Amino acid sequence: MTTIDTNKHKKAKALKPGSVRPAKELCSECGLCDTYYIHYVKEACAFITQRIDELETSTHNRPRNLEDENELYFGVHQEMIAARKIQPIEGAQWTGIVSTIAIEMLNRGLVEGVVCVQNSKEDRFQPMPIIARTPEEILAAKVNKPTLSPNLSVLEQIEKSGMKRLLVIGVGCQIQALRAVEKKLGLEKLYVLGTPCVDNVTRAGLQKFLETTSRSPETVVSYEFMQDFRVHFKHEDGSEEKVPFFGLKTNVLKDIFAPSCMSCFDYVNSLADIVVGYMGAPFNWQWIVVRNDTGKEMLELVKDQLHTQPVMSKGDRKAAVQQGIEAYDKAVTLPMWVAKLMGVVIDKIGPQGLEYGKFSMDSHFTRNYLYVKRNHPEKLEDHVPEFAKRIVAQYKLPE
Ligand code: FAD
Ligand code: SF4
Ligand code: SF4
Repeated sequence: MTTIDTNKHKKAKALKPGSVRPAKELCSECGLCDTYYIHYVKEACAFITQRIDELETSTHNRPRNLEDENELYFGVHQEMIAARKIQPIEGAQWTGIVSTIAIEMLNRGLVEGVVCVQNSKEDRFQPMPIIARTPEEILAAKVNKPTLSPNLSVLEQIEKSGMKRLLVIGVGCQIQALRAVEKKLGLEKLYVLGTPCVDNVTRAGLQKFLETTSRSPETVVSYEFMQDFRVHFKHEDGSEEKVPFFGLKTNVLKDIFAPSCMSCFDYVNSLADIVVGYMGAPFNWQWIVVRNDTGKEMLELVKDQLHTQPVMSKGDRKAAVQQGIEAYDKAVTLPMWVAKLMGVVIDKIGPQGLEYGKFSMDSHFTRNYLYVKRNHPEKLEDHVPEFAKRIVAQYKLPE
């Protein structure tokens, strides 16, 4: 009788830092290849084999309903709400819903550890993934590290620690690879708390973005591309700086986004149990997408700490998206006064709530579709998921 060796991966060798990854230039540095789980890279890497449709069905027990516009865009879900913490966590990216869910799960003994990402001592934007075992360690991971982050580099430690119940916080490309190796981690229960993610950059790319966009790059502590069509920078002294999207130096910034992120169609983190972002909510609210029963259980833990309201949708994004496609392709940068004016006009009459979320997805999916078509035409058919093809097909694209 032959027995199947389920631990074959342990003989595989992690890649050394700095060495070329199997996905080559498309690698998003998710961290999988820093571990012996590199053994599964061909089926796990989001840039080698795109498996969102299949993994959605196995994770949520049903496929995405492509005939329902909200599912087409935001993925399989039971519920979407807008929320804010009644007492926001100071220094969190938004109000700290992500950190709060993680802390509650640890405090109530639902999990023994939380995969999250702190920053290095020397650099507030240099990601340092950890398995947090205390609320303090989770809190120290609050706020976005707006750079590629090897969150899965701690996977070997999980198996070695003997942990059986785990929460992983991460973005779409990390979560696709995680779902693909989930059964090999030796866990009894895995919880996945996702955030949306788009336009990510290497640490060097981030520096260029800060230097070309902010009045004081060295004091920026966090920033967000907000629903009011401005980038909001928070500075060390507590001041806020707002720069209209339409005034960004598109010609300079075009090349800073990582090739992985220019080829990514998992903006909404389709394989997480619950997703916490902002782009489907009114200005200044966070947006929560509950995908399955596990996600529902996670939301229930913190509901008494939240103000909530139903999601809303207003405006019509389509004309603005179509104009944006052409302007971006020609790398048009508007003079700052026109950009400010346009920002104000669009803010007043433009898409809001779910419509804003769809505006952002349409703009990024059309741009990324063109990028893959031009740079990796051989990948286009298999790499772009069906839902993204349908979204892109609504627009006229340049050659
Ligand atoms: P906090 O309580 O501050 O916790 C933040 C958590 O994010 C921490 O647990 C940390 O471990 C984790 N984290 C930080 N950086 C990374 C990283 N690089 N990779 C993986 N995990 C990380 N939402 C939208 O709606 N639209 C967007 O376009 C959008 N873009 C994003 C781009 C990036 C690179 C990231 C990391 C997030 C993005 N989000 C986006 C999510 C949003 O900015 C907030 O992170 C989310 O709403 C949670 O806010 P919070 O206050 O609850 O999080
Ligand atoms: Fe490996 Fe992740 Fe890079 Fe793919 S994206 S090559 S799985 S490190
Ligand atoms: Fe990963 Fe996509 Fe985010 Fe890039 S944009 S870091 S590929 S989830």
